[in-house]
Order: sequence, then C-alpha cells, then structure tokens
Amino acid sequence: MDLNKLGFKEKGKKNNGRPAYPPSALLKLYIYGYLNRVRSSRRLEREACTNVEAMWLLRGLRPCYKTIADFRKEHVDVFKKVFNEFNLFLRGEGLLSGDTVATDGTKIRAQNSKKNNYTEKKIKQHQDYIGKQINSCLKEMEELDKGESNSEIHHEQSIELAAKLDQLCKRKEKYEELEEKMKVAHEQGQTQISTSDPDARALPKKMNIVEVGYNAVVTAEADNKLLTNYEIRNTHDTYALSEAGIAAREALGKKEGEEIKQLADKGFDTGSELKKCAENNISTYVSPKKRVHAKKDKRFNKDQFVYDKKKDVYICPEGEELSSNGKWYHKNNGKLRQAYKVKHYKSSYAICKACPHRMECAGKANLDRSKGRYIERSEYQEYVDDNIERVKLNKELYRKRQQIIEHPFGTIKRQWGYDYTLLKGLEKVEGEFGIIFTCYNLRRAITIFGVQELIKRLRKSLFLKKWKIKRKIKRFADVFCGELITPRLKYLKIKSHRINYFNSIAII
Ligand code: SF4
Repeated sequence: MDLNKLGFKEKGKKNNGRPAYPPSALLKLYIYGYLNRVRSSRRLEREACTNVEAMWLLRGLRPCYKTIADFRKEHVDVFKKVFNEFNLFLRGEGLLSGDTVATDGTKIRAQNSKKNNYTEKKIKQHQDYIGKQINSCLKEMEELDKGESNSEIHHEQSIELAAKLDQLCKRKEKYEELEEKMKVAHEQGQTQISTSDPDARALPKKMNIVEVGYNAVVTAEADNKLLTNYEIRNTHDTYALSEAGIAAREALGKKEGEEIKQLADKGFDTGSELKKCAENNISTYVSPKKRVHAKKDKRFNKDQFVYDKKKDVYICPEGEELSSNGKWYHKNNGKLRQAYKVKHYKSSYAICKACPHRMECAGKANLDRSKGRYIERSEYQEYVDDNIERVKLNKELYRKRQQIIEHPFGTIKRQWGYDYTLLKGLEKVEGEFGIIFTCYNLRRAITIFGVQELIKRLRKSLFLKKWKIKRKIKRFADVFCGELITPRLKYLKIKSHRINYFNSIAII
C-alpha cells in the first residue's frame, strides 16, 4: 500500500531530533493487535516489548502508548481508505466479483452509559422527582423548626436536611443545564443528547432492548462472505439501503448497466430507498414490513386490491373501482421519518352500501359518515410492490441473507468481542471499525488462500505496482527531463524518486 497516498502522515519528519516512527510500523501493530484481540494502546505497547511476533513485526521498535493512541486518533479518516485499498487487492484476485450482496446493521455500544443519555421526557421526569424531593425536604425542615430547638438530635437532623437540600439543588441545576442543551438539540433536529459521547444515540436493539451507541451498516458479498463496504451511523437502518447498495456496486467494480442483487431485512424497507436502488441498477430483495391498517378479514387488506396503472384506479375484491382526484398530499409519519407524497383512492358510498362485505371492508366508521372504502397510495408504491413481488418469487435467494451477513457479525462481535467501541465520536468510531473490518477481510482471505498463498499474491501485486511505478518514472524522465538535464543528473533524479516512492510503500 502506498501509505503516503492514503493519507498517513509521518510525524516530525521536517524537524530535527529523533526520527519519527514510520506509519507502516504503527499500522502493522494495529492490524496485528486487532487480529489478536488486543485493542488498547497500553496493551499494544506491552505487546511491542514482550511479544516476539510483535517485536519481529516492528523490527525492534518500541513505541509508547501515547504514540500508538495518537496514531489511531490522527488517522481515523485513513483507516477506511486502508479497508477500501485492501478490497481493491481482493477484487484483483477475483474474490470480490459476485453480483449478490447482503446488507444489515448491527449495534455497537458507545463509551456512554444509558444513564448519560437523555430525552426531553427523561429530563422532565427527573425534574419532577427532584422538585417533589425538595418540597418534602423543605416541609421536614419547617416541622423541625416548629419543634424543640436546642436538642442535639434536632441539630443533627437539621444539618442532614441542609446537606440533602444542597445536593438536590445541585442536581436541579444539572437538569436545568441539560434542558437548555436539549432545546439547542431540538433546533438541530435531534431528539436526544448524550453527555459522555455527544454523537452516541439510544438505538433499539431487540424488542424493547435499547442500546446507547452506533449502528454499523455493513454489506457483504455472497460468494466469499467478504465485506464490501460499511458505514457507521447514529440512526437506525431506515434510510441506509441505497447508500450501502451503491457503495457495494463500486466495491465490486460493476460497470454501468450491470445489475447487482441486494438482500436486506425489513428494517431497510423504505419506499424512497427502494426507488434510489432501482435507479442505480440494484435489484432489492428486502423483507416487506407489515403495513399498518391491516383489516381483521385479510381478504380486504390493501394488498388484495389490484392497481390498474393505465386507468390509475384500484379494483376491489368485488370488482369495483376506487379512483382518485389526481392530487398529491404530503404525509409525515413522525419525527424519525421523512415526509412523502400520497394519493387518495376512494370507492363510491352508494356501491359500498349495497356490498355484502361493507362492514369488513369499508368499516362502520366510514359508512356512518357516508363514505366508502379509502386507500392511500404512496409515490413509491410501485417500487414497494416490485420488491414484494421479487421476494415472493425468490424465497430461496432471500434465505441466504442471514448466512451472508450474520456470519461476519457473529465473528466480529461474539468471537472477537468487538461489540463496543473504544473511541468517542462518529468519525473516530468509523476509523476504528475500519481496522476491525480490514482485519475481518484479511482473516477471510487467509482462510480462502492460506497464509503462504496470500503472501505470494500480495508480493506479486506489489511487484506489479513497483513495475508500473518504474515505467511511470521512466516515462516521466523521458518526457520532462529530456535534454535539460545531463545524463548523470537524470540518473540521480530517477534514483531519488524511486527511493522516496519505495520508502513510502509498506507490505502488511
Ligand atoms: S365495500 Fe366497497 S370497496 Fe369493499 S369490497 Fe365492497 S364494494 Fe368493494
């Protein structure tokens, strides 16, 4: 890898003094550490001094924990590039060549407890509780003042109450500050604040379990279960499908017009995302969400009504038409979802009134208001229906989703124990997980090729790179140096170029 090109900076290169640790050595240490479940900089420092493998890898260098920690902190944006660069090598070796990918999100615990995550409701509850406590404390003090005044017990009790009141007032101030912060967050469109890691959010994990952390949306390809791309978010999966699909297309090196299949669970079933995928040549196989307003009698659910595209009407199970006035209405499904447009389709009250299924279909409430059946059609309904149809026809393919994407999550979270992050902030967490996902792909490549074969292929790829560079330098020298430089100078210039370039290349 050309580490300079990726963005790794060598510290103190221009200053006098001791030479800086080369980025290649520190990157090697991190990859070695994360592959062997050693993440903390202090533990990596110890490994560099006591572990023979790490000592060999670093050629005897012994960076201190601060240097190791700073390297990770200062290059958070580069680790994702390392992940992408390794994927380029894998693609060159034919491992990232399939046309089926699976996307899923997994929750990562942040360096922020649930206690230090607040919503407006939680702040209000705390304030109410503290208010009640202060009132009862003041009452107790009043009663105490009315009683005997000179006894020792009375004196002790009043000191205790004063201390309690002081503590309660401090807590009240804390929640007032949080209330102010919450107001600012609201203006920025946020519904919660976290005090230890400001970017962390409470995200639903399973059923009623909530975790304060991040959501890693990862895509893996089906043939070799290698990770193609990832994104760390502090929101749920709802609007992550298209971005993941487009990045996966790029990682697989698909040309314009080539189609890929993307599998995902129902958390990703969003009309606008399905549309974006279709526009980018991505066939989605997303488990359909249970839509609301399901009827007790399934025969009259919305999906039993057939849409006639030509006439722009719905046909009900009794063969009657539901038409619209052609207007689009804006709809907002709560704070967490983006607004979208819908059309309303209604049947004639006179026809429904005479229908034997009017109570099961139109419903009593509608009939009482002299209305027939009413159906809403979103602007993305066409894409939602196409997706449902594809999933129905390709159940076998959809079943592969879990095998493809849950496998990496199992290895990374359960086997390696990386279900939490050591860093704070969205950008830094993305950097740390760049190392973890690179390690995962490296481990997969070792499993597929074996160690010796992988080293052989890496050397071959590096040799090809060097050969290309040599040719480039030669061409550069021929074209630009020409007759301006004497042959000797020309030779020296080419030599220095080579030395600088090759020094920046590291084999991991
Ligand atoms: S109630 Fe109206 S819309 Fe429903 S099945 Fe009967 S005629 Fe069709």
